[in-house]
Amino acid sequence: MVTYACLAAALLAYLSWLLVRGPGQQSTLIDGWGVAAFEILASCLCLWRGLAGGRRRLMPLVLGGATLSWAVGDTILTVESLGGSPATPSLADVFYVGFYPLAYVGLALFVRREARGFIPATWLDGAIAGLGAAALAAAFAFKAVLASLGGDAAEVAINLAYPIGDVVLFALVVGGSAVMLGRFRPSWALVGLACAFNAVGDTFNLVNSSAGPSALGSFFDGIAWPTAILLISFSMWLDSGRAEPAAMPRAPDFILPSLGALASLVILCVGTQWQVGRVAVSLSAATLVTVGLRLALSVRQLRALTSERQRQALTDELTGLGNRRLLFRVLDAYFEDASAAPGGPRIAFLFVDLDRFKEVNDSFGHSAGDKLLRQLGPRLADTLRKSDVLVRLGGDELGVVLRDTDTSYASAVADRILAKLQEPFLIDHVSVRIGASIGIAFAPDDAQDSHSLLRTADLAMYRAKTGGSACFEVYHEETDEPANRLRLVDELRSAVEQGDLLLHYQPQVDVKTGDVVAVEALLRWSHPRLGMVPPLEFLPLAEEAGLMQPLTEWVLDHALQQCAAWRGDRPDLAVSVNVSATNLMDAGFADTVRALIARHRLAPSALILEITETTIIRDFARCKRVIALLRDIGVAVSIDDFGAGFTSLAYLASLAVNELKLDRTLISGLNDAPSGRDMAVVRGTIDLGHALGLRVVAEGIEDDASLAALARLGCDVGQGYFISRPVPAEDLSAWPGLSAATADAALRAS
Ligand code: C2E
Ligand code: MG
Ligand code: MG
Repeated sequence: MVTYACLAAALLAYLSWLLVRGPGQQSTLIDGWGVAAFEILASCLCLWRGLAGGRRRLMPLVLGGATLSWAVGDTILTVESLGGSPATPSLADVFYVGFYPLAYVGLALFVRREARGFIPATWLDGAIAGLGAAALAAAFAFKAVLASLGGDAAEVAINLAYPIGDVVLFALVVGGSAVMLGRFRPSWALVGLACAFNAVGDTFNLVNSSAGPSALGSFFDGIAWPTAILLISFSMWLDSGRAEPAAMPRAPDFILPSLGALASLVILCVGTQWQVGRVAVSLSAATLVTVGLRLALSVRQLRALTSERQRQALTDELTGLGNRRLLFRVLDAYFEDASAAPGGPRIAFLFVDLDRFKEVNDSFGHSAGDKLLRQLGPRLADTLRKSDVLVRLGGDELGVVLRDTDTSYASAVADRILAKLQEPFLIDHVSVRIGASIGIAFAPDDAQDSHSLLRTADLAMYRAKTGGSACFEVYHEETDEPANRLRLVDELRSAVEQGDLLLHYQPQVDVKTGDVVAVEALLRWSHPRLGMVPPLEFLPLAEEAGLMQPLTEWVLDHALQQCAAWRGDRPDLAVSVNVSATNLMDAGFADTVRALIARHRLAPSALILEITETTIIRDFARCKRVIALLRDIGVAVSIDDFGAGFTSLAYLASLAVNELKLDRTLISGLNDAPSGRDMAVVRGTIDLGHALGLRVVAEGIEDDASLAALARLGCDVGQGYFISRPVPAEDLSAWPGLSAATADAALRAS
C-alpha cells in the first residue's frame, strides 16, 4: 500500500509537470526513463501479487505480463529516441501490441472466475453487450482513425492495430460486466477504468502523430498509460476473490445487453441514411443475431418453465403421484365432453382409503408414514393400464380413474389393488402391514359431475370400511344414500357434542347513524370431508336427529359469551340468535334462556331471539305462550323472514314481539330501479310495523341503492352483504369503518 501511495504521488507530480510545461517540451529523463521505470515497477508489483497469490495467481501474472510488455515497449522507444526520432513501426510496437492479447486473457480469466459455470443466457447477454459496445466504438472511433491514417502498409497496419485492440478490449469490459450479473466488483471497475485510460492514450497518440502535438494531446498522451498500468496493478491487490452471486438476476443485469442491442439497432438505422463504417455495421448485425439467439433461448426456457410449473401444480409433492387438481381436471374434462351422456363411454372412480395407516404414523412416526406413501405409486403402477389415472387425494386416500370401463374390469382392478396393498411394506428394515377399503362409483350412471362422483365413491368406500375386512364395494343408491344421511347425522352429533361448530356474526346497523346496534349469530359447520356445510342443509338433519335443543343451547352459550366480551367496548350491543320450532315446543326453553343470560352476567336486553314467520304459523297458540314468557324475562323477540310466508301482520300483532325482520325477497326489489309496487309493499310493511310499535329490520341489503331506499322509507335497522358478510368474531374489529360507510350511504339518501 505504501509503495502504491508513493507511485500515486509520483503520478500526481508528473501530472502537474505535464500541466505546466508547454507542448513539445519533452524530457527524455522524465517522459522516457521516468515513465518507463514507473511502469516497470507497477507491473512488477502486479506480477508479485501473482507469485505470492496462492490459488488466484494466474490472473495477476497474465495482467502483470501485459502491462510489463507495454512498459518494455516504452523503454525500447526511449532507447530508440536517444538516437533521434524512432522509426514507425518500431520494435517498441511489437511490445505495445503484445499488451492486448495478454490483457484479453487476463480479462477472460476474471470473467470466467466470476461467471462460475456456463449459463448460456448469461454468456449470450455478455456477447450482446460486448458486440453492441464494439459496434458503437467502431462507428465512432474508426472513421476518425482511418481518416488520420497514412504512410506505408506496415505503418497503417500498426496504427490500425491499436484502435482494433481497444475496441476488443472495450467489448470485453462491457460484455464481462454484463456476464457478472450486476455484482459490483471494485477490482473489475478499476480494470475497466484502466482500459478506458488506455484507449484515451491511444486516441491522443494517434491524433498527436497525425495532427502534430497539442497541449491537451500531449497531456493525455503522457498521463493515460502510466495511469492505466497503475490501476491494473493496484486492482490485482484489491481483488478479494469471487463475489457472492445475486440470488436472482436483477434489473441492472439487463441494462448492458439492452443498451448493446439498442446501440446496434441505432447504428443499423443510421447506416441506411448516412455513411457508417462496414465494421460497425457488421458488428451491429452480429449483435442483433445474438439478440435473436438470446430470445429463442428465453422462449425455450419459458416454455420449459411453464410446463414444469404445470407439472408441479398437478403433482402431489410427497408421492409424485397426481393430485386432487389433476383428478378434477380429468373428471371435469370427461363430464364436459358430450360422451358423458348416457350411452357414451363409462368411467369408474375408485376411492381407496388405507387401513391402519394412522397406526403406522403413530407408532413409527410421520417420516415412516411418508416413506410408506412414497412406495404406493411404484407398487400400484402395474395394476393399472396406461390410460388409467392414479392420484393422491390427501392423507391416506388415493383415487383411481378407469376410463372406458365396466363393472367387471373395475372390480378386477380393485381386487388387484387390495392384494398389492396387503403385501407388507418394508420401512427402515421393519415390515409393516396395512390394507385398504375401496369404494367404486361409475359415471354417468351414479353421478353427473365430478364432485358427486367422488361423493358416491366415498359413500361406497364407507360401506366397505364399516363392513370389516379389507374389501371393495360398488355404489348403490338405495343402500348408500340413506346410510349417508345416517353417517352425516352421526358426524353432526359428534360435532355438536365436541363443539366442532362455529359461529359467524353479521352486523346490523342503525340505518340513520350507521352505528352497529346488534349482530346476528349464524351457525357454521366446517366438515372435514365436505368443507363448509350451509346451515339450511344440516339444520333439517339436526331437527330429525333430535339435536336441535343441544345445538341451540350451544349457539346461545357461545353467542352470549361473545356478546359479553364485545359489550366491554360497546355496552349497548345486542346479539341476535335464531331459534327453531323445536325449541319453542320445549317447555323449559324460557328457563334455559334465563339461566344462560345469568351465567354470562348480561342484561336480558343483550339478547334478541329470531323466530321465523313460518314457525309461528305452524303452532300459533304455543308460540304465543313461549313468546310471552320470553317477554317476561325481558328478551326481545323478532319475527324473522317476514314477508316470505304471506301472513297478515295484523294477525301477528297479537304476539308480544318487539321486532319485525323483513325477508330479503322484499328487499331485493329495492335495487336500482324499484317498481312502484315493490316500494309500496316495503313502505306499507315498514309503516304498519311502526304503527304496531315494532322496530323494523331489513335483511339481505346487497347494494347502496337498497340501503338508501330503506333509509328514505324510514326503516330502522339494516343487515346484508353490502354492509358486511357474516364473518368470524375476530374479523369484526373494523366496526367504525363499517359505520362510516353505511352512514355515508344513508346521508346521500336523505
Ligand atoms: P336467516 O336467519 O334469515 O339469516 C340470514 C341469512 O341470509 C344468512 O344465511 C345470511 O348469511 C344470509 N344473508 C345475509 N345478508 C345477505 C345478503 O345481503 N344477501 C343474501 N343473499 N343473503 C344474505 P345463512 O347463514 O346461510 O343462514 C341461513 C338460515 O339458517 C338463517 O336465515 C337461519 O334461519 C338459519 N340459521 C342460521 N344459524 C342458525 C342457528 O344458529 N339456529 C337456527 N335455528 N337457525 C339458524
Ligand atoms: Mg335470522
Ligand atoms: Mg332471515
